Amino acid sequence: MSEKIKVAVTGAGGRMGREVVKMVLEDASLELVAAVDRSGAGQDAGELAGLKPCGIIAASDLDLALSENKADVLVDFTVPSVVYANTVTAIRHGVRPVVGATGFTPQQIEELDGLCREANIGGLIAPNFSIGAILMMQFAAKAAEYLPHVEIIETHGDQKLDAPSGTAIKTAELIAQGREKIKQGNPDEEEILPGARGGEYDGFRIHSLRLPGVFAQQEVVFGGYGQSLKIRHDSYERAGYMPGVNIGIKKVMDYTGMVYGFEHLM
Ligand code: NAD
Repeated sequence: MSEKIKVAVTGAGGRMGREVVKMVLEDASLELVAAVDRSGAGQDAGELAGLKPCGIIAASDLDLALSENKADVLVDFTVPSVVYANTVTAIRHGVRPVVGATGFTPQQIEELDGLCREANIGGLIAPNFSIGAILMMQFAAKAAEYLPHVEIIETHGDQKLDAPSGTAIKTAELIAQGREKIKQGNPDEEEILPGARGGEYDGFRIHSLRLPGVFAQQEVVFGGYGQSLKIRHDSYERAGYMPGVNIGIKKVMDYTGMVYGFEHLM
């Protein structure tokens, strides 16, 4: 058997980080070598993930953890305020970053690409690791080339702070790139209740539903003469992102430079 890929995880005590720890511990080709978390420091990473103890105690300092443990890949699901610094720290240790936490500027991504190339290692920043969600966006962009009348309906839990979702905005951007520029609907349309027609993006509408019990759904609805097409993706739980993270960990070993967007590895 080829050598195991040694994985460190930052944000190991968070909702996404716990799923990452579980996925790494359950894949025989991966080895968890370090875990770092601000609130979970001092606890066994396996226990944080709801499994039996694995002997890796979550540390509070990434730089120290990477000095003491040789890692090939760092998976980061922390918070926007620290993710850039964590990514730089990983690259300085020659550890390939696979990053799910959001909050990079385009300039930072360019800088990180340069740092990865200098260190001769690969890196991955993926705002969405869900394979199904990425396919939904790509199919929607393709359909919009033929059926330019489109509306997006996204549904998330009622505690979500932002609307529309990042995925809806990304979908809208991709649709707008290939869609014939038209202003949809009746030009004399009147909104009796403000907001009833949703938010406007480049001449089409995005609707955000917020309901308890829902994790994440998106439907892209196209209308044509005598027909409609619906492309829909449903996420049920955070574990749904893990096949993408697993692929990212394995593929990042084989190239140089920072890749932005999981779709480029599919
Ligand atoms: P969370 O709040 O549950 O977890 C964040 C964890 O990071 C916490 O345990 C916290 O203690 C830890 N942390 C904070 N600062 C730290 C530091 N300096 N060093 C180490 N650990 C630190 O959040 P979450 O729901 O797990 O989401 C984490 C991130 O992942 C967010 O940015 C979220 O938007 C993103 N996310 C990405 C995807 C994707 O597919 N790429 C999917 C879901 C969430």
